[in-house]
Amino acid sequence: MATAKIRLYVEHPLGQGQSVPLNRDQAHYLFGVMRLSVGDAVALFNGRDGEWQAEVAEAGKRGGVLAVGAQSRDLQLPPDLWLMFAPIKKARTDFIVEKAAELGARCICPVQTNFTNAERIRQDRLQAHAIEAAEQCGGTFVPEVRELQKLSRLLDDWPDDRHLMFCDEALAGAAEALNGAGGDKWAILIGPEGGFSEVERARLRELPYSQAVSLGPRILRADTAAVAAMTLWQQALGDWS
Ligand code: SAM
Repeated sequence: MATAKIRLYVEHPLGQGQSVPLNRDQAHYLFGVMRLSVGDAVALFNGRDGEWQAEVAEAGKRGGVLAVGAQSRDLQLPPDLWLMFAPIKKARTDFIVEKAAELGARCICPVQTNFTNAERIRQDRLQAHAIEAAEQCGGTFVPEVRELQKLSRLLDDWPDDRHLMFCDEALAGAAEALNGAGGDKWAILIGPEGGFSEVERARLRELPYSQAVSLGPRILRADTAAVAAMTLWQQALGDWS
């Protein structure tokens, strides 16, 4: 079986000899957009079983079937890093989710802070962006995009063994970095366009597991800050070095 260039995320369990039914959207993508036909190769992953090579067994307008062959890659989990961010305008929130999936977040947690404008998010749409990002970047894991939660509630129930990289715009230009940090369970926190309130800042600074960091001398947009913070963390503590 030729090694596939096209990758598709499926919910279905994957294993040698499995038949994977395709829904209408998947059939449209493979057969309408990518012009595949019976016998062509597709790489499948489901976020749990690694990547498997498959062949088109049946191709139709409203569905189809893929026959699973050999496994081509094991599941590669990203580090245990949550990206917590305050949703901003739709397109930029989509961007944050997409980049977090590419950059190796384990979980993506939209949070409501004092100055967050968004009252709700479309969790299903954001989850689809995370899946698309994984398909594109060759990942075998798809981070969960959680429902919008109040930051205060998350902090009330914070797990003892998880560190928090608090990206504090009030530290812009300071030398506060992730130096000397340790531990393998982390979360990054990025605030909204309006930044953090003084009450939030005081609470976050007090937390024993929290480390306030600067992302340089300039004030970054929240989407830029999310990418910068994940890059810093991955380089210092993640799976990039
Ligand atoms: N309205 C805020 C202000 O003018 O200070 C800016 C908030 S910024 C658009 C959104 C988030 O990005 C901040 O809450 C923070 O988490 C992060 N951020 C942006 N620039 C940063 C910096 N230089 N250092 C640390 N965090 C930064």
